[in-house]
Amino acid sequence: MEGQRSSAAEMRLVGGRLCLDFVNTVDGRKLDSSPLGDKLDNYSDLVAWSQHAGIVTAAEAARLIKEGKQKPSAANAVWRRAITLREALHRIFKAMMMEKAPRSIDLETLNDELLKARKNERLISTDQGFRWEWIGGETALDRMLWSITQSAAEFLSAGDFSRLRECGGEECGWLFEDTSRNRSRQWCHMQDCGNLAKVRRFRTRLQSSSKD
Ligand SMILES: [Zn+2]
Repeated sequence: MEGQRSSAAEMRLVGGRLCLDFVNTVDGRKLDSSPLGDKLDNYSDLVAWSQHAGIVTAAEAARLIKEGKQKPSAANAVWRRAITLREALHRIFKAMMMEKAPRSIDLETLNDELLKARKNERLISTDQGFRWEWIGGETALDRMLWSITQSAAEFLSAGDFSRLRECGGEECGWLFEDTSRNRSRQWCHMQDCGNLAKVRRFRTRLQSSSKD
């Protein structure tokens, strides 16, 4: 598989937050089909996406891939945790959009990950003051989950859910934070779902006018 580029490393990052981009590593959620159009098929995909999303550097990614190959079952366990976390986050965000309470089992998944992440967080003194830093993460296979979990916790504790949207595309289901001034963003990306919707509307108009 080496040298083959993961589709997770090429996807658009349009969620506006790390945790939303992570949830968007599935295509066509609205189709409800099984299996999902999942971009994270294994641990390598998770690392490739993490580099693409800017939470691990190229050097760190190379180290994690190497470490993952030496410990395949540990790497696989991290990948499974990532998918469980992602699906829990998706259900929590959808619940927030519908102004419903999240399922407690999903919140438990998030809190379990938060506990694991925070164990690796330290307050570091610098010339400019203090800052939070992840420690000992160079070869920790699950280090990307720390940043994703932190992003989700920040969003859930301080975010504005009235700006959380699901793409209007027929099949898409990607989530994003609408930061437009007049809160009018409809699409994950205009060139993808926006144009597709325009083409569909145009075809429907053509069909109905040809019937006249
Ligand atoms: Zn879309």
